[in-house]
Amino acid sequence: MVMQRVVIIGGGVMGCLTALELLESGRDVCLIERRSTGQEASWAGGGIVTPLYPWRYSQPVTALAEWSQAHYPKLCRELFMHTGIDPELSPCGLIWLDHAEQEAALQWAEQQGKPITAVDGDFIYEQIPSLAPGFDQGMWQPQLANVRNPRLMAALGVRLQQFAGFSLLENTEVSGLRIEGGRVKGVIYGGGQQAADAVVLAAGAWSGDWLAQFGLDLAVAPVKGQMLIYKTAPGWLPSIVLHESRYAIPRRDGHILIGSTLEHVGYDTEITFDALDSLRASARSLLPDLANLQPVAQWAGLRPGSPDGVPFVGAVAGIDGLWLNTGHYRNGLVLAPASCRMLVDLMIGKLPEIDSQPYSVDGRMGPRTF
Ligand SMILES: Cc1cc2nc3c(=O)[nH]c(=O)nc-3n(C[C@H](O)[C@H](O)[C@H](O)COP(=O)(O)OP(=O)(O)OC[C@H]3O[C@@H](n4cnc5c(N)ncnc54)[C@H](O)[C@@H]3O)c2cc1C
Repeated sequence: MVMQRVVIIGGGVMGCLTALELLESGRDVCLIERRSTGQEASWAGGGIVTPLYPWRYSQPVTALAEWSQAHYPKLCRELFMHTGIDPELSPCGLIWLDHAEQEAALQWAEQQGKPITAVDGDFIYEQIPSLAPGFDQGMWQPQLANVRNPRLMAALGVRLQQFAGFSLLENTEVSGLRIEGGRVKGVIYGGGQQAADAVVLAAGAWSGDWLAQFGLDLAVAPVKGQMLIYKTAPGWLPSIVLHESRYAIPRRDGHILIGSTLEHVGYDTEITFDALDSLRASARSLLPDLANLQPVAQWAGLRPGSPDGVPFVGAVAGIDGLWLNTGHYRNGLVLAPASCRMLVDLMIGKLPEIDSQPYSVDGRMGPRTF
């Protein structure tokens, strides 16, 4: 059957980039968002364009990350050109200070052909003069970028509106599907319906509970993360630094993000004093000068957690016309370009550049415990 009109549930980075890929392939898209586009995890994230500790992940995550890293510069350039909003992709490099895992990391880097090298204290302090004392070895990954994800989302929002075939419904929560003869015909929400030839569920942390209404057990659940932001002079922190799962990310204008907590507390997005204390302690222990500054803001977001961080990208067996693009957990910003391209290739009957089998939903339905 011809697939011309697609409804996408969820206006995060997955929903928006899937929409862009579909529009560019000549399809019409109606994007439906419960609140406002780009205000949940895709806004709250740090925007580091690599999985944290990439050597700990399986090949399917690495494959998506690599493809995305190669495509991010073009994506950001084109968004800037079309919208005037710069997503500020900054190839600032990353210093890994977890030398307990150095051997495994360097081995992984060699196998993957990644330019990660062991460095000594002299290199580290030349690169990051403001770093706390005591780090005498680490690893350097040059050119590794961070993207200013709230700007990426703003640019995507403007870009989508430039397509005649695009429509947006905000403050609209999709409650169900219209299914006829085992095939999806559209979606249902309070006060209305939208017809569609296909529906994409890109509802982030909400995807598992949403799909449960069809008796399907998709292992995607919310994992809360809190962050702090400080303001320093531009260039004060030249590169991302990461130690014991805590990181400092420099934005071009001198803002420094400190992240992040990992909390299994359902859909709660309250910011807490405990997280404030803990993140401030991390900030101080990495960059002591930050102890003299007050954080500018603290926020929380909900990662779409999945057991091994391998997202669900593909068709849902038994509900013809329903597709998933969700479960990217801690790496949704880096994995988004590859995931969305893969999904749209599958939807339009094109062979994806990356083997899509490891992301398939088939055989991966299971309880939401991880
Ligand atoms: C603190 C933190 C730090 C992070 N750091 C990084 C990082 O450095 N690098 C990285 O790659 N990733 C990072 N991530 C992860 C990344 O942000 C997420 O994996 C990614 O944003 C998920 O995108 P999404 O579109 O699936 O979800 P979201 O951005 O959450 O979008 C889902 C949308 O669906 C909407 N929705 C839900 N249900 C419905 C419904 N029924 N009807 C309509 N709309 C609905 C929601 O309102 C939401 O807007 C971080 C996340 C957090 C929280």
